[in-house]
Amino acid sequence: MNYIHSTIAQLKKTSPAQCEFYQAVEEVLESLEPILENTPDYQTNAIIERLVEPERQIMFRVPWVDDKGNIHVNKGYRIEFNSALGPYKGGLRFHPSVNASIIKFLGFEQIFKNALTGLPIGGGKGGSNFDPKGRSDGEIMRFCQSFMNELYRHIGPTTDVPAGDIGVGAREIGYMFGQYKRLTGRYEGAFTGKSLLWGGSLARKEATGYGAVYFANYMLQEANDTLEGKRCLVSGAGNVAIYAMEKLYQLGATPISCSDSGGTLYHESGIDLALIKQIKEGDRASLASYIDSHPDARFIPRADYPEDGHAVWRFNADAAFPCATQNELTQADAQALIANGCILVSEGANMPATQDAINVFLDAKIAYGPGKAANAGGVATSQLEMAQNASMQTWTFEEVDTKLQQIMKNIFDTASSTAKEFGQPNNLVLGANIAAFRRVADAMIEQGVV
Ligand code: NDP
Repeated sequence: MNYIHSTIAQLKKTSPAQCEFYQAVEEVLESLEPILENTPDYQTNAIIERLVEPERQIMFRVPWVDDKGNIHVNKGYRIEFNSALGPYKGGLRFHPSVNASIIKFLGFEQIFKNALTGLPIGGGKGGSNFDPKGRSDGEIMRFCQSFMNELYRHIGPTTDVPAGDIGVGAREIGYMFGQYKRLTGRYEGAFTGKSLLWGGSLARKEATGYGAVYFANYMLQEANDTLEGKRCLVSGAGNVAIYAMEKLYQLGATPISCSDSGGTLYHESGIDLALIKQIKEGDRASLASYIDSHPDARFIPRADYPEDGHAVWRFNADAAFPCATQNELTQADAQALIANGCILVSEGANMPATQDAINVFLDAKIAYGPGKAANAGGVATSQLEMAQNASMQTWTFEEVDTKLQQIMKNIFDTASSTAKEFGQPNNLVLGANIAAFRRVADAMIEQGVV
């Protein structure tokens, strides 16, 4: 355990005030103890020391002009964390909470997630503290163009391939791709999550949410159970949450909650998904307006959340799908879930559960799918988009969805068999971290000290 403390202590000195990043590193390092002890090669090659240090961190100014002629300046980031397995790959997040710590934790997680997919992709992440809420289309476009005026020189189909994340969907990818094309003069797969009209992949939009639900189903199959008839709590109401709910309905389960930054929606008879799509994908409005069409549902504003957690996890249900953001599920939330009958958690979001909450799930021995395994369907399908772009092919929805299911099955099998190999059969955190680490670390050793 000493190297965990010394690594974190060193990071606190060299990368101060990055608590989300330390949290992500600590979670991974704790799982790696058994393999590091038995494999001196990893220590002599300073794999941990090299893994926690990004290969490259790019930070830049993003100046832009709003509709009234006022000038704004945001921070832009791209962390190119590790390219042992392939070009850097990971999304861009536009949210006011973005800072170097958040982007680094996301980039660090991405290394392991991408390794788990078995595909040739390294780990990276980026974004800005820009808040897209309430901004006009013209403002969004000007911001994206300014962001790309710097980022274009660092990305490309064989170097670094960004995609979407919180606050970055097809519209933003379109504006950024357009500016990339203008600046480079090249029409190439430098982004994924593109529109279907110009190089996007069918099923990419659905992939992260669908993948988290496929992963849940594979966890349940281990216990000869299925999702059919299960009542499910979902958080978030964005890309991942919406398509997790869609797949839950398709597999006979019922999502009864979702949430946004304003509050939590609870609808006992089942969330009206068509209405959520209209509110979020169409109107870009608050979930609170759902009640106008469904007076029997409840909306709990954020101000009324319990002090120690979040309203969305405080209802009776069989399963939980956190699909909003990091640290949105606390220890008290985890205890409430278990007390209210929850037997499964599958994470669509990145690091949604705090370490204390994860310990509650592991101690209770419920089926717990950590984000880097359960939400890897998004990046895996991004790689399928890259493969289609590179070979100038277009696969059908069914072809992509079938590959996605197979990839999620492989990820589950890999995490599960590795957990068993290390004597902790229920611990998919340990299984996912060790399996991913082995792939990256072995590649790093073979490529020398770079
Ligand atoms: P979206 O922007 O589409 O949706 C995010 C949702 O979460 C929105 O409903 C948003 O509320 C809510 N939310 C965001 N931040 C907060 C916050 N601080 N407090 C409360 N609610 C919040 O993003 P995605 O669905 O793409 O991403 C959701 C999660 O999934 C993230 O953790 C992301 O990293 C992860 N992920 C996404 C992938 C993808 O392919 N998109 C791939 C793998 C992981 P509001 O509507 O009010 O803004």
